[in-house]
Amino acid sequence: MRASRMNLATLREDPAEAEIASHRLLTRAGYIHKSGAGLYLYQPLLKRVIDKISRIVAEEISRAGGLEITMPILQEQELWEKSGRWAQYQASRTMLTVKDRNGQQFGLAPTAEEVVTDYAANVVKSYKQLPACFFQQHTKFRDEIRPRFGLMRVKEFIMMDAYSFHASPESLDETYEAMRKAYLRAFARLGLTAFAVEADTGAIGGTGSHEFMVAAEVGEDAIIYNPASGYAANVERAAGIVPKASAWASAPAAAQLTLTPKVGTIADVMGFLNANGFPDVKAEHSLKCVLFVVTVKTDKGDKGIPTAAFVRGDRDVNEVKLGNAVARGARGALLEIRPMHPDEVRAATGAEPGFAGPGEGLTVEFCYIDAALKDAGPLVAGANKTDHHLVGFVIERDAKAKFRWEDIVRTQAGDLDTRGGVLAEKRGIEVGHIFKLGTKYSAAMKAEYLGPDQKLHPFIMGCYGIGTSRVAAAAVEQHWDADGLRWPISIAPYHCVIVPAGKPGDTAVESAAQEIYAKLQKAGIEVVIDDRDAKPGVKFKDWDLVGIPLRVVCGRGIAEGKVEFKVRGGESKDVPLADAAATVIEAFIKATETLDNAADAVV
Ligand code: ATP
Ligand code: MG
Repeated sequence: MRASRMNLATLREDPAEAEIASHRLLTRAGYIHKSGAGLYLYQPLLKRVIDKISRIVAEEISRAGGLEITMPILQEQELWEKSGRWAQYQASRTMLTVKDRNGQQFGLAPTAEEVVTDYAANVVKSYKQLPACFFQQHTKFRDEIRPRFGLMRVKEFIMMDAYSFHASPESLDETYEAMRKAYLRAFARLGLTAFAVEADTGAIGGTGSHEFMVAAEVGEDAIIYNPASGYAANVERAAGIVPKASAWASAPAAAQLTLTPKVGTIADVMGFLNANGFPDVKAEHSLKCVLFVVTVKTDKGDKGIPTAAFVRGDRDVNEVKLGNAVARGARGALLEIRPMHPDEVRAATGAEPGFAGPGEGLTVEFCYIDAALKDAGPLVAGANKTDHHLVGFVIERDAKAKFRWEDIVRTQAGDLDTRGGVLAEKRGIEVGHIFKLGTKYSAAMKAEYLGPDQKLHPFIMGCYGIGTSRVAAAAVEQHWDADGLRWPISIAPYHCVIVPAGKPGDTAVESAAQEIYAKLQKAGIEVVIDDRDAKPGVKFKDWDLVGIPLRVVCGRGIAEGKVEFKVRGGESKDVPLADAAATVIEAFIKATETLDNAADAVV
C-alpha cells in the first residue's frame, strides 16, 4: 500500500470531548469518524483492525464447534412477544424500534436469542443433531442512556454472538467450558490480557454467567477479586464478608428517640450525635436506608414494588442484588429499579426523606436488611419521624417492619473472601460475556427436539457474546504510549511501514525502499511504503501515532548498504540492506508466535 493513496487523516490536536486514550488516539490517528452521538464511521484503518479481530474470534469460536451464520438485524415484535422480552426491552428502553409501511413493529437487534431459537426449532429436530452452536458477527443496536468513550459504548456496534443448543445440562457445561477457553484463546491472540469474572445474568436471564474483563483504569465495571483464592466477580454479583464494626461505649441500653434536627447525611447525623451525648458513635453504627420502587414483571402484569433496603451506614446498597431479591420475592422478572421520589418517601415513612428506619411507621411492600447486620448490636436508625432518630436500635429487638435478611450490600476492597484472605477491587472493561440460559427461551418459544424417548423436549441453551468493536478500543487501552497507538501484531492495520528518507531524487534510497517493499509483499507481510511528499520527521510521527508495529527507514545509510529497522516502542538498529526484508519477516514471526504461544498456554 502506498501511503499517498491511503487518505491518512491524522490530527494534530486531541479531540476536546475524548476522555480516554482509546477515544482520543483512535480519533487523532484517523481510525474513527464521529457520524452522530454514539455513532462512528470506521475509517479504512479501523476496518482492517475490526476485520482481523472478527477473523481471529471466528477461528476460535469455530474451533469450539460454532457454525457461522448471519441473522437479520430487523427482528419482528411477534417473535419477541413469544419470549416475553418485548415488554422488558421496551420498559428498559434498550431496544430501538422501527415500523414498516404496514405498521408492523420491528426491533433493531440488541441481541438475537429469539431469532436463533426460532431458527434452531426449525432445523434441529432430533437429539442426534445436538449439541449445535451457531454464531454471527453482526451489527447490534442499543439505545444507551449515555453513549460515550468512543467505541466503548455506542448505539451501534459489532458483536460476535453465539448460541448453543443441548439435550442435557452436562452438554451445555461442556460447550460453556469450550467457549470460555475459546474466548481466552482469542483474547490472547488479539494481544489482550483478559480474565473471566462471575457475573449477574441481567436481562438475558439464565442460571450462570461469566464476563470477560480487560483490566483498565478507565473501565466502567468494578471487579472484586482475590488473587490468592482465584475469586473474581463483577461487583454487581460479588459477595464477601463485611468485617464487624467496633463497639461503642455510649450506646444506650434501650432504643432512645432522639431529636436530630436539620441533618441531611449520615455524616451530619453522626456529627450531631457526637456533640450531643454519643461521642464515640460512628457511621458504621448506623443503619442506612435507601428506598426504591422496583418494577417486576409478574404473571399478573407489571408491578411497581415499594422497597426498603438497609445496609450499614458506611456502606452502599448493591442495587443489582437488591433488584434480584425483590424479583425473586415477587416471583417475577426484574424490569427496573429506581430510588423513590421524595413524595413517595413521605408516603412510605410519614417523614421527610432522611429519617427512614425499620421501626414503627415504615410502610413498604418489601423490606430487606443486609445479612451482614445480623447481631450488629445497638445502631442508630431513622425513626420515621422528621428530625428524629432512634439511638441504640437493635434490629432483632426493635424492628417493627416485616423484613428479610438478604445479602444486599455492595462488596468492597477490604471485605473478607469467604474462601479466606481479603478482597481487593479493580476496574475493567467488559469485552465478552457467556451465559447458561437453560430452557428460558426454548420453553417460552416452544423450541423443542425429539429425544431418544420419542418425546419433545425444550432445548437447553447457552449464549455467548464478544463486543468486537469494543475489543478494538480495549486493545488500545492496553497498548499505547505518549507517541500514539501500539497495536499487537495480530490486529495492526498493517504490519510494517517503509519510510524512504533520502534527499529528493536520491534514486539509491528509492530503489532500496522499493526492493524491500516488493520482498515483504511477496512474503505476505502487510506493508505500507510512505511515498508522501513530507519530511521524514512528520512521517515518523504519523506512523508512531497510527501504531504500525514494524518500521524500516531507508536513509543516508544506503551509501554503506544499511537501513534502519525499528520495532514500535523499541530502539532503532542498522541492518544490511540485503537482510532488511528477512529482519522484518523474522520480527513478524516472533511477535505472532508470542501471541500464539500465549493462546496455547490457556487452560
Ligand atoms: P454493558 O454492561 O457494558 O452495557 P452488556 O452486559 O449489556 O454490556 P452484553 O449483552 O453482555 O452487554 O453484550 C455482549 C458484549 O457486547 C459485551 O460484553 C460488550 O463487549 C459488547 N457491548 C455491549 N454493549 C455495547 C455498547 N453499547 N457498545 C459497544 N459494545 C457493547
Ligand atoms: Mg454483559
